Amino acid sequence: MSIRENIKTLKESLTPEITLVAVSKTKPNENILEAYNSGHRVFGENKVQELVSKQEDLPKDIEWHMIGHLQRNKVKYIAPFVSLIHGVDSLKLLKEINKRAEQNNRTINCLLQVHIAEEDTKFGFSPEEIEDVLKGNDLAQMNNVNIVGLMGMATNTDNQEQVQREFIGLKHLFDDIASKQSSFSTLSMGMSGDYEIALAAGSNMIRVGSRIFGARNYS
Ligand SMILES: *Cc1c(COP(=O)(O)O)cnc(C)c1O
Repeated sequence: MSIRENIKTLKESLTPEITLVAVSKTKPNENILEAYNSGHRVFGENKVQELVSKQEDLPKDIEWHMIGHLQRNKVKYIAPFVSLIHGVDSLKLLKEINKRAEQNNRTINCLLQVHIAEEDTKFGFSPEEIEDVLKGNDLAQMNNVNIVGLMGMATNTDNQEQVQREFIGLKHLFDDIASKQSSFSTLSMGMSGDYEIALAAGSNMIRVGSRIFGARNYS
């Protein structure tokens, strides 16, 4: 199937409140344009350099999401245009995003990444830390970031019950915060291999790459 067909089929299976982030990392601009020309506008990248060069070359009405681990010294390159940063995993990073957003006279929407997987290689706050960040004085001083929700990645396992358990745990945390904080609207969870489980658990933003663009070649 073509990229155009993949994205059409996927979108038809989603209810309107679900946002599909088409993860185009490692894929050439022509692939992105194929999805773009079928009407899609939301794309995600995980490397700053790649994100910046694609943003420069591609149509300006694309909504670019930074989905990967973000280093503080690279925030400045994406601050002028990024529309959502999914992987905020430290207060220091959040402060840097706030500073660079202010320099660009804008507010940057962010998701706090929560560590839900068993593997300790995945970045993110613990659920307890999330509450601290949201209640803390530091955040109150930041006028140029908007925390709009949470992001999480489940353990990379064939054990579907475990994946489901991790997603449901994150959904509970999200609901708990959203009930107290009206700015909380976005729960980013689910990728090609597990987005159906994530949606059933209550995700409203999925990040899908290979299912749209085909397998990636890392050289
Ligand atoms: C690559 C990536 C995805 C998409 O992965 P697929 O399995 O190709 O859908 C989603 N989220 C993050 C953070 C990624 O780095």
